[in-house]
Amino acid sequence: MNKYIAYCRKSTDEKDKQVLSIEAQIAELKEFAKRDHLEITEFITEAKTAKMPGREQFALVLKKIEKGEAQGIISWHPDRLARNSVDGGKVIYLLDTGKLLDLKFPSFWFENTPQGKFMLSIAFGQSKYYVDNLSENVKRGNRQKLRRGEWPSKAPYGYINNPKTRAVDVDPELSKVVKKAFQLFAEGNKSFTEISNFCFRFGMNRESCGKPIKVDQIKRMLSNKFYVGILKYANEYYEGSHKCFISKQLFKEVQKQVEKILRPRQHGHDFAFSGLATCGECGAAITAEQHIKKYKNGTSQTFIYYRCTKKLKPCLQKYAPEDEIEQQLKKVVGDCGLHQDWEPYFEKWMAADELKDQANSETELQRLGENQKEIETKLNRLLDGYLDQVVEPEVYKQKKNELFDEKLKIAEQIARVSKSGSSWLELMREFVISALQAQKIARAKNECHDLAIMAKTVGSNYSLFNRHLRPDLKYPFAALSAEGGAASAAPNSAAISKMVTPPGIEPGLQG
Ligand SMILES: [Zn+2]
Repeated sequence: MNKYIAYCRKSTDEKDKQVLSIEAQIAELKEFAKRDHLEITEFITEAKTAKMPGREQFALVLKKIEKGEAQGIISWHPDRLARNSVDGGKVIYLLDTGKLLDLKFPSFWFENTPQGKFMLSIAFGQSKYYVDNLSENVKRGNRQKLRRGEWPSKAPYGYINNPKTRAVDVDPELSKVVKKAFQLFAEGNKSFTEISNFCFRFGMNRESCGKPIKVDQIKRMLSNKFYVGILKYANEYYEGSHKCFISKQLFKEVQKQVEKILRPRQHGHDFAFSGLATCGECGAAITAEQHIKKYKNGTSQTFIYYRCTKKLKPCLQKYAPEDEIEQQLKKVVGDCGLHQDWEPYFEKWMAADELKDQANSETELQRLGENQKEIETKLNRLLDGYLDQVVEPEVYKQKKNELFDEKLKIAEQIARVSKSGSSWLELMREFVISALQAQKIARAKNECHDLAIMAKTVGSNYSLFNRHLRPDLKYPFAALSAEGGAASAAPNSAAISKMVTPPGIEPGLQG
């Protein structure tokens, strides 16, 4: 029978309220081990972040496994063990070499198979993916509002957020100032600064300091389609349901003036990869430029280059042509991709995991439900004792509070288990869809915009150094890419056996 070391961790800077305290983790693991008849040899705890390698107690756990003092580790969730690829890799290496035979987590299902290890390597970094995904979910909530035509953010100038209806209402006074500003600007020959000063004179200022509104904000106000009933959010348009006080005609005239002012400085060219990377040498933004080469025979050719803006400090970086950037991004995205022929396999694995995950959370919920009933009984008994005057009032109060605390904790656990049960698989599903799409985009021609979007899906913090692009890959994609892009090729039997246990696959799916 395997012996397990229990590892509990919570760093002091971990603000996440969902993470249990070390004491609570110990209690949970004890309970879990008892239920599953697991032998825990010792508890090792640590109050350090797992984002960087170099935790002493974690190293001790690995050393003990290495020495054969135990064959398994039990922890609340994979993210307690590792949140960086170095430590995650160490755990997986011990599994590969057979020193570590099992991992157990009350909140995560793991099986020591190639597929299980793959899922685990993703879970080690899931926290980051989860955080990325959370902000995506917030955006999704906003999208619901937007579809109803409601503005999910701070009201533009001339409007006020109505705290009661949560709608955006016309500000009876400032709307007149905004309208006048539009009219003045439409007449032409007015700078953004003049408009800002005009607005300032009539009570429109920066809330933070009371100074006139900044020029770029005035520019944004004058070209904000909100004033003609269109909501633009995260680069998508929605039809607004708010009242408008600027006519479409006036807005059109204003746009003509705005363009007039901006035209000399902007080429109006929409560069696909601008804003994607920063300079690897100095950290300044990378900007795009267009050069037109004219030939003697009257023809011309357009070249697009990306270069460091060099606005921070002196920098020696040179231009990088757009097609070079494109090829590199295709490689980055392609390596993070899954060949479409993998889809049925993943479908199968996820379906299997779904069942296991469901069964897992169901037993967990059942156990919690029983605990809940038990406490209710205790509470009743306590009350009876108190009413029968067998229990002292002081004892009654204290005991009652204790039981109430326990009851609350269990309710929290129930909420967590019923919530987190499926969220993991949902994330997995989203990841697989993106990875399948990445493959297609990496092969497509002249789809620079899609490529740029996918590049941001699989990575962030791109830096350009000596014409070489380097991203921070987001975790699940990093796991795919670490295989050297093997998954972006069609599955063959060698790749499949690496990813999955053979008995799970029907022969018909091979080849
Ligand atoms: Zn630079």
